[in-house]
Amino acid sequence: MKRQQLIAALQKNRTFDLLVIGGGATGCGVALDAASRGLQTVLVEKNDFAEGTSSRSTKLLHGGVRYLEMAVKRLDRNQYHLVRDGLRERGILLRNAPHLAARLPLVTPLYKWYEVPYIFAGLKLYDLLAGSRSIGHSRLVGRKKSLSRYPLLKAEGLKAAVLYYDGQFHDARMAVTLAGTAHQQGATVANHLEVLALLKQNGKVCGARVRDHLGGGEFAIHARGVVNATGPFADRVRQMDDPGAQPILKASSGIHIVLDKRFAPPQTGVMIPETEDGRILFILPWEGHALVGTTDEPAAISDHPRPQAEEIRYLLRHISTYFDTVATDADIRSAWSGLRPLVFDPETTDTAKLTRDHIIEVSTAKLLTIAGGKWTTYRKMAQETVDHALATFGLDAAKSCHTDRLPLLGAANFKPAGTEELAKTYGLDADIAHHLHHAYGDQASKVAELARQGLGRRLHAEHPFLQAEVLYAVRHEFAQRPLDVLVRRTALALVDNQAAQMALPRVIELMAEELAWDEKRQKQEIRLAMSRLEDSI
Ligand code: FAD
Repeated sequence: MKRQQLIAALQKNRTFDLLVIGGGATGCGVALDAASRGLQTVLVEKNDFAEGTSSRSTKLLHGGVRYLEMAVKRLDRNQYHLVRDGLRERGILLRNAPHLAARLPLVTPLYKWYEVPYIFAGLKLYDLLAGSRSIGHSRLVGRKKSLSRYPLLKAEGLKAAVLYYDGQFHDARMAVTLAGTAHQQGATVANHLEVLALLKQNGKVCGARVRDHLGGGEFAIHARGVVNATGPFADRVRQMDDPGAQPILKASSGIHIVLDKRFAPPQTGVMIPETEDGRILFILPWEGHALVGTTDEPAAISDHPRPQAEEIRYLLRHISTYFDTVATDADIRSAWSGLRPLVFDPETTDTAKLTRDHIIEVSTAKLLTIAGGKWTTYRKMAQETVDHALATFGLDAAKSCHTDRLPLLGAANFKPAGTEELAKTYGLDADIAHHLHHAYGDQASKVAELARQGLGRRLHAEHPFLQAEVLYAVRHEFAQRPLDVLVRRTALALVDNQAAQMALPRVIELMAEELAWDEKRQKQEIRLAMSRLEDSI
């Protein structure tokens, strides 16, 4: 459906069952769960899907090795449940979106003998908790093998390593795919539509006033129930309902840097469970590069948080601590920052110790807020939220929750070994076929078809992203602005910011033709996209 038709449909005087505010992992998950149960659902996102935290994660599907340590050390049942749920959900997502998520081996290098039994036992317990959803057994790897598996590891003093497995996924594409699957299930989904205020009738929330950031208009959307799934912004929306509402969230910022190809670990990530100041650090293979993160700092809430120079220096410093190499600013291809919405505990000041669990709250005026949690558990959070919504708003669902068995868009006919066939059928380079196969799953042939019709050129010579993807993103994946394409449909800007800046004029040209932008709009879009790429994504 074209944007104008979508907005016109929303402006019709219609009452939805559920209005979901926020198009990150949580909101997209809730919209999919609700629509797949047969509820008339509308999802609105003020920027693009996953433009908030959900495109800025470490991209791991995990139970949380660190939370397991806390569960054991403090005999904390909540942390234990968090790990167990995470491992269960990891298994479900690997099955429901096998094109976007895959098993990733990780090593933890050990430099002190006494760490060997401690870390090994911890990771064995991690396996055990995964139960039938285990994706591989942890094992000890000797020094020599560790270095051959991961040649950049610091050799001096290395005793051994533990090899274990978690999931790795494409977070932004996963959110867009959730929105697409929700749409397929009957939900109306709209990005670039901001909730400005909540509507009330007889003291109960019954919809919202929204602004269309592209068309400029404002209008009302009515619904029997409203779900606030706005991540770090949840308190702002709660205060639209009740200006005196006490905050329930704290934001903690985490940054990632992407390093040049030469740092790319060969299909194995490294997890340092505790740096000298107690943080967790990952160095992961990602899109042919090395993804390094993350830090954990208290932060102010904003749409586009900026990676601080000090945080970048911190990550670069730790590269030389844990690797036999030195990384400098010149090796950084991209950097970005994300805000973790952490459930608030007034007693705690250390954000690393705040719980990663989620909460569901229903206000007096019946605004339902879902906040906290993590990407890995979005499906379970969505299920609980819709269960609450049915009870709170007195809604009848035609079906019970079945998202644990619902393949996401692109998954139903995905063949894991299908890259070669795609390359052969469409005459694609191997890296391009691999990228399309995993980004689009069983929809890849539609992109390849566009490529065959004259859009088969790369957006940048060093990366597998194609011009065809721009059109596909606009026609089938709700992309409305250049960075919707360059950051969240393809990951070009996240992998290589400079390359994205070079590709920008061609992306604008293609979008202008498809969306009939005049010269003024094109200039506006290039200015906005460029300033964001130069500043913070
Ligand atoms: P968001 O993604 O922020 O979505 C909220 C959305 O609401 C935003 O898009 C925002 O624009 C929108 N919104 C706000 N106000 C309005 C309004 N008025 N109207 C309309 N829309 C509005 N989890 C994992 O499982 N694995 C990981 O490896 C991992 N790594 C992480 C690394 C970092 C650095 C961080 C910060 C988090 C990480 N997480 C990870 C956690 C995970 O990313 C988050 O829990 C998850 O993305 C939160 O999703 P969300 O939908 O709640 O929030």
